[in-house]
Amino acid sequence: MSLDFLWFPTNKIFISGSWESTAHSQTMNLVNPSNGKVLAPIAKSSVEDVNTAVLVANQALNGHWGEQTALQRGRLLNKMANTVEKYADRLAVIEALDVGKPLSQAKKDVVALARYLEFYGAAADKIHGVTIPYQNDFTVFGLRERLGVTAHIIPWNYPMQIIGRSICASLAMGNACVLKPSEDACLTALAFGEIARECGLSDGALNIIPGIGQETGQYLATHKNVHHISFTGSVTTGRLIQKFASTNVTPTTLELGGKSPQIVFSDANLDKALPFLVNAGIQNSGQTCSASSRILVHRPILHEVLERMAKSYKALKVGSALEDYDLGPVISQKQKDIISNYEDKGTNIELVAQGFLTESAETTGFYKNAKLFHTSDYKHILAQEEIFGPIQIVIPFEDEAEAIAIANATDYGLVASVWTENGSRQMRVAKKVKAGQVFINNYGAGGGIELPFGGMGKSGHGREKGFEALYGFSQLKTIANFHG
Ligand code: NAD
Repeated sequence: MSLDFLWFPTNKIFISGSWESTAHSQTMNLVNPSNGKVLAPIAKSSVEDVNTAVLVANQALNGHWGEQTALQRGRLLNKMANTVEKYADRLAVIEALDVGKPLSQAKKDVVALARYLEFYGAAADKIHGVTIPYQNDFTVFGLRERLGVTAHIIPWNYPMQIIGRSICASLAMGNACVLKPSEDACLTALAFGEIARECGLSDGALNIIPGIGQETGQYLATHKNVHHISFTGSVTTGRLIQKFASTNVTPTTLELGGKSPQIVFSDANLDKALPFLVNAGIQNSGQTCSASSRILVHRPILHEVLERMAKSYKALKVGSALEDYDLGPVISQKQKDIISNYEDKGTNIELVAQGFLTESAETTGFYKNAKLFHTSDYKHILAQEEIFGPIQIVIPFEDEAEAIAIANATDYGLVASVWTENGSRQMRVAKKVKAGQVFINNYGAGGGIELPFGGMGKSGHGREKGFEALYGFSQLKTIANFHG
């Protein structure tokens, strides 16, 4: 598909409010996962480009951007929300082509980005400091200040949503941002730069430098003039980021992977639960950090749940992103191979059901069928490791204690849900489950602009989304005034 409708350059970087060539004029190709063909050339930023981006971001803090009041920053973000809505159709098509996600899911991501801008636009002037009772001859208060330059290293699976939750919160608090989008999908990140430019965001407040993780990302994470790193991605890279950040003692927020469980008790309303059980696993072809890849089921209803989930699975269609089936392709041949390797390790457990590939799906695309497995072995590799593909495992449990034990028996702790009509049990289980977010009789993979989100264990640390993100993108200075 031709990209003639793009209203911004793809092969440039966004620096200090304008589109520039990289220092070495290098580019790399984005691939359309639906057909495996080149989608667009994008800029490949070098260390020189990182230096420029960090420099202009620091200058912005001492210039026009730094002079903006919280109200002015909020109004600007609201203007950007309206502009995102103006380009909504184009943004959705770009995201579907670039990430491979079904068009209707991409449309939801656009709505989420506009909503993040609106939320943080409205919140910008509502974060207050504190006064602290101390000795009588002191007046003490805590001033909430910006961090400075925040680096945002993000993955390919939800570019718009992740920009929304981290960049928008950071700008609301008056920081200047340097965004390193993923080399696998970055078109909507570039579109966001053009939207910022159109809306008149101060030069240097946002800078966007696509590039290779091990080069551009790594150099950015070690940069001494970066004051905070918001990283979203794999545990492996998250560990490295933490190590790089330690060079300059730079604070980090790490939003990493997950193996999130939904716990279904025998008194659950299965009619309500069923769509959530399946959708939370296959949304974006399972390439969602908060995908629910483990379904823990109370033994008395195991047969019924397996039967009903199998029926849903057999109807799941996989096809090109723009044709908008239940699942699109996965991001790359590499990701497809990773998923296939895991499937090979599942030959000793029961494959309950699978979806099917539509006839129009091109053989050059990176398609993976949705698969539902069942095992009592909660330590099985498919039940322990993040696969990042459309695979769910059903695991039975005998009682509440065992449900909690199995739910907590991975290294991760991102999201969980509890399905039961028993109010006491809802709260008991919710409090004992290791997860940054727990839903009761619901599941929100990636949703909830207002709801603080983040991990426990290897799912990471720090919180984004909601008001909590505004605290994360600022720091408290205690001022003690002695007037004795
Ligand atoms: P990844 O870790 O490979 O890459 C993420 C980003 O880090 C990319 O921009 C990449 O270029 C960059 N990067 C890679 N190596 C780097 C290095 N050495 N130094 C600095 N930067 C580097 O992850 P991915 O494959 O793009 O995304 C999938 C992972 O992201 C999954 O594990 C998923 O669970 C996680 N994820 C988490 C959340 C969350 O909110 N918790 C959200 C989305 C995705």
